[in-house]
Amino acid sequence: MTSTTSPINILGLDRQQLEAQVAEWGNRPFRARQLMRWMHQRGEADFSQMTDLARVFREQLVEQAAIEALTPSQEQGSEDGTIKWLFDVGNNNSIETVFIPEDDRGTLCISSQAGCTVGCPFCSTGHQGFNRNLSAAEIIGQLWFAEHTLRRQPDATRVHSDRGDKADTPDRVVSNVVMMGMGEPLLNYDAVVTALKLMLDDHAYGLSRRRVTVSTSGVVPMIDRLARDCPVALAVSLHAPNDELRDRLVPLNKKHPLQELLDACNRYLEHAPRDFITFEYVMLAGINDQPEHAEQLLDIAKQVRCKFNLIPYNPFPGTQLRCSDPKTIKSFAQRLTDGGAVTTVRKTRGDDIAAACGQLAGDIQDRTRIHERMPKLKKILIHPQRA
Ligand code: SAH
Ligand code: SF4
Repeated sequence: MTSTTSPINILGLDRQQLEAQVAEWGNRPFRARQLMRWMHQRGEADFSQMTDLARVFREQLVEQAAIEALTPSQEQGSEDGTIKWLFDVGNNNSIETVFIPEDDRGTLCISSQAGCTVGCPFCSTGHQGFNRNLSAAEIIGQLWFAEHTLRRQPDATRVHSDRGDKADTPDRVVSNVVMMGMGEPLLNYDAVVTALKLMLDDHAYGLSRRRVTVSTSGVVPMIDRLARDCPVALAVSLHAPNDELRDRLVPLNKKHPLQELLDACNRYLEHAPRDFITFEYVMLAGINDQPEHAEQLLDIAKQVRCKFNLIPYNPFPGTQLRCSDPKTIKSFAQRLTDGGAVTTVRKTRGDDIAAACGQLAGDIQDRTRIHERMPKLKKILIHPQRA
């Protein structure tokens, strides 16, 4: 190659960014939309196959652009059909992506960071520390890889797209995306929003805003920005109904306490595609699963239109925490329901391959020495009933 600049990976550019890039190469904006359809809808990574682009433009692309997604270093299939991929993201770091098939949908759980800085003591990713943010190409590359790999499998379940009337949008395998893999998406804001825009774009994946969910541990200022920039469905990792307990379970609570978070949820609801916020609540035996916690959650439900999603705690090697027993989870859910709050209990999927919530732990070269900053686990275990 004679060019001195390295090729631009156009997989991670949203429509506006790609149009600007294509203009810089001296081409009209519609070329960007054509390129997006080739890449994202047809899964094509070879410019020479993009037959409706002018030959000169194709040659230019071969010289100056690249379409590079991550390649998996490992694939594991669960008995329940869940698939987990491990992707090597360099310097001995790896991230994980999980596909969860159901009768009427295919959900992809995507990572946003190699590790996480928040350090929730019940989360495997949190225990590993943090190495770096993923780029937009690495985030959307997980969807690109999963959709086009699964589409090539003859027995893959296909789901009609919401925009099935458009010839360019074939039936898809991934119908829903949840940003619930490794990392805190709102602490990698720009890259995550670029990837979200591609998920929603009619010339890329064309998912409706209701089918794309960002899960956050509560980065309040970024919840407000997301409402303006790309208001997809929002899930908030609540896990505790009061500040004292939440400070210990979700350390970010010390910076953005509960009331601030609930106010941000209400502001978000003015823009959200659904008329409720999903509050995720991991069920930890003897810690946050007592009747008084359910009562406090009902007070929260009076303040914010919400649904509670109770997540049975998934253990991981080295953890001392335990999941609440099924009877406790059932009566906790019943208390919430009886109090008028819509409540579901999440089905655990893929736990035989450590692909369930909070078990994701691709290798991370920690740059944060998180264990030195994580004394909370002891306190949680010593004072389980205090909250
Ligand atoms: N960082 C974001 C998104 C990733 S975690 C967040 O915290 O929201 C996705 C969900 O899995 C969160 O609700 C998280 O709290 C939950 N989770 C983490 N560890 C878990 C575990 N060991 N068992 C069950 N759920 C867990
Ligand atoms: Fe990070 Fe979410 Fe895990 Fe907390 S639960 S450590 S915010 S990935």
